[in-house]
Amino acid sequence: MGFFNKKNTDKEQDQVLAELRQRIENAHLPPVVAPVAVQELEVLSKIGPSSAEFSIGLTYIDYLLSLPWNHRTEDNLDIVRAERVLNEHHFGLELIKERVLEHLAVKVLRMNRQARILVIDDEEIARKNLSHILTREHYEVVTAADAESGLQALETGEFDVVLTDLRMGPVSGMDLLESVKKRFPETRVIIVTGFATVQSAIDAMKRGAFHYITKPYKLDEVRETVRQALEKRSLATGSRGTVLCFAGPPGTGKTSLGRSIALALGRNFARISLGGVKDEADIRGHRRTYTGARPGRIIEEIRRVGSANPVLMLDELDKIGSDFKGDPASALLEVLDPEQNRAFTDHYLDVPFDLSGVMFIVTANVVEAMPGPLRDRMEVIEFSGYALEDKLEIASRFLVPKQVREKGLSPDQVVFTQAALEHVIREHTREAGIRGLERQIAMVCRKLAKESLGSGGRKSVTVTPAELERFLGRKKYHVDVVEETDRIGVATGLVRTEAGGDIIFVEAVAMKGKKELIITGSLGDVMRESAQAALSYIRSNARTFAIPEDFFENQDIHIHVPSGAIQKDGPSAGITIAVAILSLLTSRPARRDVALSGEITLTGRLLPVAGVREKVLAARRAGVRTIVLPLKNRSDVDELPAAVRSDITIILADTVAEIVPQVLVQQ
Ligand code: ADP
Repeated sequence: MGFFNKKNTDKEQDQVLAELRQRIENAHLPPVVAPVAVQELEVLSKIGPSSAEFSIGLTYIDYLLSLPWNHRTEDNLDIVRAERVLNEHHFGLELIKERVLEHLAVKVLRMNRQARILVIDDEEIARKNLSHILTREHYEVVTAADAESGLQALETGEFDVVLTDLRMGPVSGMDLLESVKKRFPETRVIIVTGFATVQSAIDAMKRGAFHYITKPYKLDEVRETVRQALEKRSLATGSRGTVLCFAGPPGTGKTSLGRSIALALGRNFARISLGGVKDEADIRGHRRTYTGARPGRIIEEIRRVGSANPVLMLDELDKIGSDFKGDPASALLEVLDPEQNRAFTDHYLDVPFDLSGVMFIVTANVVEAMPGPLRDRMEVIEFSGYALEDKLEIASRFLVPKQVREKGLSPDQVVFTQAALEHVIREHTREAGIRGLERQIAMVCRKLAKESLGSGGRKSVTVTPAELERFLGRKKYHVDVVEETDRIGVATGLVRTEAGGDIIFVEAVAMKGKKELIITGSLGDVMRESAQAALSYIRSNARTFAIPEDFFENQDIHIHVPSGAIQKDGPSAGITIAVAILSLLTSRPARRDVALSGEITLTGRLLPVAGVREKVLAARRAGVRTIVLPLKNRSDVDELPAAVRSDITIILADTVAEIVPQVLVQQ
């Protein structure tokens, strides 16, 4: 940008402006935009090139011209091919792919579908005329000679708009309108009527007709009214659940599936990370009156990809709000709302840009953390962490070949044994997704590439677990639960985090004091309340657990959950806290390899918890053998894939008391 770094003579200025004028003409800007560009140019011709405004104005016009106002890529509607593309790039994710394909099919069909129009009139010549006009507008037109056959046509096929006469046969246009309103509320009805029936046409409007046209009509009027009706109709049907939201832990393939969708459709792809965005202007741009004003990210990405209908991924929508200025959520709402995004106005551009062709995909780690009004617009598809078996498949089929290729090695040169991959997964990563795994494989490949150059040749290498230590160093993660001994007052729990699931250890100690419950370890309010409830439950049932009833009399109890960096909250730690306290008070160690999750009531019953799959996966990663979950989570447990359940026992329980024998060691 910036043409006028050096001083220009008048002649040069004239030439630049003339060129710009030509470019504006050639650009075929939309009707609302062209005059703005021309007007801006007029202003420029009056001020000298040495003024700051001149170069600002010039940059602005240049930016306007660089946008893809009229350029859209042609969609590839072949769903079989789309399926193949998704499969080629992703292992597993069957249900997710299925839902994505359904979504694509519906969306693409709807976006590209020819509008269907039904014309009902008892005069043949009237039917023919309307049919002729509308067919030339590329609509699919069906005609009917009376209301009965019109209704029949409506039953057999979906119509967007009905044009109907009022007076005809035994069933009038008014009755027809009523039936259509009742049975096909999305279909718009336009009344075409003679002068004599204008009053009844107005009545019809009151009963929900979209508009009326009086005979004899002008062609333009028919075209325009139908066009408006179609627009209203597509807004009405298009605005629900139109935006896909991929929710799940990092590294589970959300971004890469988004890319594949773009590839499958033949659209461009762009990604905007909302996690790093600081204020509303990042989305909507700065007004040009600010020095250094810039367009927002949305418009900028559209310009960069060069088409008005890319797949645009808005990453980490759940991170919005916390580090934002202004009202970015409402700016985004406008971007995502089909009723408003046709005329999205970036502050810098100051003219509307039509975003309705953009396919937005939003990602989030935790759906619940997204602003409510935004969540309502979305069709949420949940991604979850991968089991060890999935990770092995993905690594050997996708990650290794990709990294080998990217580092300039050849596939026959480098082989990772399954044991080596398993070693990387178990000892060098601890994650729900596979980002870390990919990074570790990349690191090995990089080192191999260097060695291969050093040895001057094409030495082939088989990477085994023993080899790995040479590349990746000592193992980074220890299997927390198995390597430690059972202790009194320490219970193992499962929590859901942004990164998937994790295990926690809840510690309880008692000391001389005055009946105080102390809680530490960056726990949220809900978790504090769970701790209160757990303690009250145990106090009121002391006898059942063979604990002295006055145990709290001269004591304080301190609950702590280490690894304070993870923000922990939610009611599901109730059972873990209860077991830690029971272990402390009965002096029976709690089994480390039994992990617990469940909300408890004051009477010690267990309520269901969220995130069962993530928690079970996390438990497996940590080497847990047995998991205790509330009975009411049975259906979640039934849904777990066999591989996930293979080496783990899941106990479903209804009360805390029930599981005490399983968790506390009898001494
Ligand atoms: P996210 O956006 O969920 O954080 P990414 O899409 O960036 O995750 O995925 C991280 C890496 O893992 C990418 O290289 C991606 O291609 C790969 N990946 C994730 N899931 C799969 C899968 N099911 N099959 C093949 N590769 C996958």
